[in-house]
Amino acid sequence: MQLSNYRRIPAEYKRSNIRAGVLHSIRPKEMKPDFTNTEIAFRSKTSSDLRKAMLLFNTMANPGLVKAGTWTIDKAFRMRLPVNWVIKPTIYNHFVGGETLEDCRQAVERQIAHNVKSVLDYSVEGNHEEEGIQATLEETLKSIRNAAGNPAIPFAVFKPTALAAPVLFENASPGKPLDARMEEEYLRFRTRVNILCNESFKLGVPLMIDAEDSWYQHLVDDTVEEMMRRYNRKEAIVFNTLQMYRHDRLQYLRDSIARAREGGYFTGYKLVRGAYMEKERKRAEEMGYPSPIHPDKAATDAAFNEAIVICVENCDITTVMCGSHNETSNQLLADAIDSCRHDRTDNRFWFAQLYGMSDHISFNLAHAGYNVTKYVPYGPVKNVMPYLFRRAEENTSIAGQTGRELRLLQMEMSRRRKTKS
Ligand SMILES: Cc1cc2nc3c(=O)[nH]c(=O)nc-3n(C[C@H](O)[C@H](O)[C@H](O)COP(=O)(O)OP(=O)(O)OC[C@H]3O[C@@H](n4cnc5c(N)ncnc54)[C@H](O)[C@@H]3O)c2cc1C
Repeated sequence: MQLSNYRRIPAEYKRSNIRAGVLHSIRPKEMKPDFTNTEIAFRSKTSSDLRKAMLLFNTMANPGLVKAGTWTIDKAFRMRLPVNWVIKPTIYNHFVGGETLEDCRQAVERQIAHNVKSVLDYSVEGNHEEEGIQATLEETLKSIRNAAGNPAIPFAVFKPTALAAPVLFENASPGKPLDARMEEEYLRFRTRVNILCNESFKLGVPLMIDAEDSWYQHLVDDTVEEMMRRYNRKEAIVFNTLQMYRHDRLQYLRDSIARAREGGYFTGYKLVRGAYMEKERKRAEEMGYPSPIHPDKAATDAAFNEAIVICVENCDITTVMCGSHNETSNQLLADAIDSCRHDRTDNRFWFAQLYGMSDHISFNLAHAGYNVTKYVPYGPVKNVMPYLFRRAEENTSIAGQTGRELRLLQMEMSRRRKTKS
């Protein structure tokens, strides 16, 4: 595909229309996704699944219980006590696909039966010994090969910190040059990333690169852009992640697209709001530098939505994935696709939610014909615990999120009781 073959937005559907969600151009037969339709949302779940999910979200709604539970489980793992029997049938089974790629097959099949695709995410965190890094590299290669030629798994993914010695990222700071030893570590990191991107390029599997802490993201950004320049000549294979809670990210997005135009390559972005807000603010305060995070939620929301508009406006060279459980942001992208008269199946536009969360968004968008994926984490119980702790905390701390899941689960249970389905 040549850059010039991609259509940009028609002039009459410029940004004001996209932002306002102007829908006059929706083709008459195409329905709007209805996020309140619980029958579609939970069609892949049995009533027993729903009851278990209700119990889980009810438990997570209690911050005291989550705090005590996380502390106890963390301690139990450190003391090598057997706790898998509590975790596996509950929080693990709800949020994780299984221990291996093969274990995830059932989750993948259940989702694709309803047009929801899967991104299998090896979510082992904190294993930074050389051996652990090598094992993660091998497993990620395996996941890229597993996705190749399988339309139910349209992307592969990895976390940059899993591929670097912690010392590299711990000592990094924007504007601070790396010393000779760190330069060596950085080169090793870039070589590993290149191995993954090269495999993805050869097999035609787009590769998502997650974003984590802000103080070393410049090292990741530089590496990802180098990979985009190398592998995105014909289509978006390498994707960066932009955390829109950072106040510098809109400008970064604009600059990064401008560099791609100049360099004649495609760009791909997963847009997220960002998962490490408290940690970022705390570190900035403790170390005495200005917080990189927007001052409030409204500012993050505005930046996220603006980023969607920018990506759609530049879709002649940009592919976007809206990685969010926010209904307004997902609706905004859906409206933008329609109002710009793109096909809902156009593979420059993707929606993504996490496995075990916001099925009402994923399954209703997929039912309406959009490209939807769920991130399905996998890995041994002990190693995915940091991921599970984050899910537990997120579902406790995000205002309304747990309440929303519970409300939808209750609605569906009551609908099934009434219709005896
Ligand atoms: C498919 C997928 C992939 C993801 N990948 C990553 C990743 O690579 N890196 C990553 O960091 N996260 C990632 N996340 C998590 C994501 O960043 C969010 O933490 C999570 O999705 C909640 O945001 P939201 O858009 O779903 O919805 P919302 O519930 O509308 O937003 C909550 C988010 O808003 C922001 N926020 C809340 N309060 C404030 C405040 N007072 N001031 C400023 N901002 C505020 C925070 O980012 C918070 O997480 C991913 C999420 C998904 C669905």
